[in-house]
Amino acid sequence: GQCRAVCPTGAISIRQDVDPVWKALADKNIRVVAQIAPAVRVAIGDKFGIPKGENTLGRLVAALRHMGFDEVYDTNFGADLTVMEESAELLERLKSGKNLPLFTSCCPGWVKFCENRYPEFRENISTCRSPQAMFGALLKEEARMKAAEAEKEGRSLRKTVVISIMPCTAKKAEIKRPEHFTEGQQDVDYVLTTTEVTRMIKEAGIDLSQIEPEALDMPFGLSSGAAAIFGVTGGVTEAVLRRLVHSSRMEDLQDISFTGIRGIEGIKEASIQLEDRTVKIAVVNGLRCAETLLERIKAGEVQYDFVEVMACKRGCIAGGGQPVPIGPRTKQARLDGMYKIDSMAQIKRSDENPIIAEVYEGILKGKEHKLLHNR
Ligand code: SF4
Repeated sequence: GQCRAVCPTGAISIRQDVDPVWKALADKNIRVVAQIAPAVRVAIGDKFGIPKGENTLGRLVAALRHMGFDEVYDTNFGADLTVMEESAELLERLKSGKNLPLFTSCCPGWVKFCENRYPEFRENISTCRSPQAMFGALLKEEARMKAAEAEKEGRSLRKTVVISIMPCTAKKAEIKRPEHFTEGQQDVDYVLTTTEVTRMIKEAGIDLSQIEPEALDMPFGLSSGAAAIFGVTGGVTEAVLRRLVHSSRMEDLQDISFTGIRGIEGIKEASIQLEDRTVKIAVVNGLRCAETLLERIKAGEVQYDFVEVMACKRGCIAGGGQPVPIGPRTKQARLDGMYKIDSMAQIKRSDENPIIAEVYEGILKGKEHKLLHNR
């Protein structure tokens, strides 16, 4: 994918992130929390002889616990938060008519490309932090609140270290961007790629194909099918549309999936009726097509309200941190694997996730902007 170019020094950074994570895991005074991105679970089985595209989340959770992780959560929970915030932002912009189209912000490869090459569109990029960043901020805020409570009782808690397991090398740079910090503190401490975690599992002497699957920790192990498909091109858009159309009827969900947002074309277009208005959408697969689309927007040839861009072709399933080789059959198996997780999910929409409602009433209350947005 295009994002490979983002991290030319990948080989050097490997030990730079793996070693401190092993160190944190060995330190009894540190609470180590992991979050796992959607696309990792259909790829990490590759080097253990597990069939391509199979969902190995449960096995990965079990392996991480063996390695010493204290809690294992799901970045899909962060994706549910992103859907809530980004759909609200879209509605706001549609109302004000300002900074349209709204560009998605969850792919750091795309964000950087847009900032460097098309700075005139900077304000169009969503103010939403990415799913891993939102979730990291939430976890750290929860830790701060718990530490303050404990302090009142004269106790002290272990320090929390948050580790994201990501399909992506560009995510390593994303966590170091100051606008992803909360109160000057980095929210996610380390990003490990699927490839790095594969190596760590092997170093620990664990065979992923032999380990018994385990469930994620609660409460942040619960997420929707909409969040699950963030790992493929068109997934973010589909998730946002489910939220906006506000229906979980099978026919309505199918209608959304048939608007033209699924599939692996470079630029897909769709439109959807929201109350009295037609919302025009483009889904862009790869940075070369992003360039084409931005040029067309600049020339006034096309007009959209919402544009999703993923830097890697087909989305994060083929990210630069995923196991290689990734031939067409592997890509298809991972893509099918992502949609299968969605079709198996009992909760289809992000706003139907009961834990999402709970955090908005609890940890996030009054801090939504501070913790979930960049600017
Ligand atoms: Fe990373 Fe996914 Fe963007 Fe590729 S598409 S750069 S893997 S976030």
